[in-house]
Amino acid sequence: MEPESPFIPYLARLQSVTDLTPDTKLFNLELNDPAMRDNFDYSPGQFAFLSAFGVGEAPFCLASVSYRKAGLEFAVRRVGTVTSALHELEPGATVGVRGPFGNHFPLEDYKGRNIIIIGGGIGMAPLRPVINTIIDHRDDYGDLLIINGARTPQDLVFAPEFDIWAASPRSRVELTVDRGDEAWTGRVALVPDVVKELKPSPENAITITCGPPIMIHFVLEALRMLGFSDHQIVTTLEGKMKCGLGKCARCNVGEYYICKDGPVFTFEQISRFIEQF
Ligand SMILES: Cc1cc2nc3c(=O)[nH]c(=O)nc-3n(C[C@H](O)[C@H](O)[C@H](O)COP(=O)(O)OP(=O)(O)OC[C@H]3O[C@@H](n4cnc5c(N)ncnc54)[C@H](O)[C@@H]3O)c2cc1C
Repeated sequence: MEPESPFIPYLARLQSVTDLTPDTKLFNLELNDPAMRDNFDYSPGQFAFLSAFGVGEAPFCLASVSYRKAGLEFAVRRVGTVTSALHELEPGATVGVRGPFGNHFPLEDYKGRNIIIIGGGIGMAPLRPVINTIIDHRDDYGDLLIINGARTPQDLVFAPEFDIWAASPRSRVELTVDRGDEAWTGRVALVPDVVKELKPSPENAITITCGPPIMIHFVLEALRMLGFSDHQIVTTLEGKMKCGLGKCARCNVGEYYICKDGPVFTFEQISRFIEQF
C-alpha cells in the first residue's frame, strides 16, 4: 500500500538495536504494513529518511540488502538532534521511514570486475550492502579487496562481520586505525597511505569509496597515482537535504541534486566540484 504522499513516512517497528561503536548503533526495522514490507525493494547505495517522532527526520543509507528480507538496517552515528533521539529508542518503538530514495551502485555493470572497497568510519554504512551483495553472488565478480579505516579499533563499525567477509573466496580485508591501543596488533596508518602501500591494480577494476571528505580527497589522489581513471572511482555523497525528491534544492552540487541524481556518483561526474565536499 503506497502512502498518500512521498512526504508521509511509513510506520515501522524497531526490532533490535545493536551497539556497533561507542557512537554508532545498528537499527533493524520492520515496516508495520505486511504488504508494504513485501514490496519495499531497494538497492545498495539508496537511502531513506528515519523519523524520531516529535523531533524530526534525517537521511541514512540502507545498510542491509533487500533480497535477504531480514529487516531494514541503518547504522546511525550520533551527531545531533535526530540521531540522538534515535539512539534513545528501545526495541518495540515506532519510527517513520520515508524512501527508498536516490540512485544505487550499478553492481550489474561491475560483474566480472575486481572490486576495491575503501571505507572510513561511518562511510562503511553504504558499502556494507555492496560487500554483502558481492559475497552472496561471489562467482559474478573478480577479486574483492576491502580497505577499512577508523580513528581507533573501537570505531571500526562492522567489526563482527570482518571474518565473514575475509572468509569469502578471493576476498581480502585490510584494516587500519589512526591510533591503536594495547590490544591492537594491526596497522596504524591513514587509509590513503594503505591504498598506496597495497597498490591495487586499475586493470579491470572498480573502486567504491566512502568516508570523511579529507579521506576521499587523498584516496582519490592515491588512486589516480596508481593509474585509476575517474570513471573507475565511485563514491556516495552526503549533503544537507530535506525532501529527498529533488524539490527543496538544498543538496545541489553543481548541476546535480544529491538526493535524486545521487547519492552515488563517479568522480568523472563530480571531480570538478571536489572543493565543495
Ligand atoms: C544520503 C545520505 C546518507 C546518509 N547516511 C548516513 C548513515 O548511513 N549513517 C549516519 O550516521 N549518517 C548518515 N548520513 C548523515 C546523517 O543524515 C546526519 O548525521 C544527520 O542528518 C544528522 O542529524 P541530526 O539531527 O542528528 O544532527 P543536527 O543536529 O542536524 O546536526 C549536528 C551536526 O551534524 C552536522 N550535520 C547534519 N546533517 C549533516 C549531513 N547530512 N552531513 C554532514 N553533516 C551533517 C551539522 O552541521 C552539525 O554540525 C547520511 C546523509 C545523507 C545525505
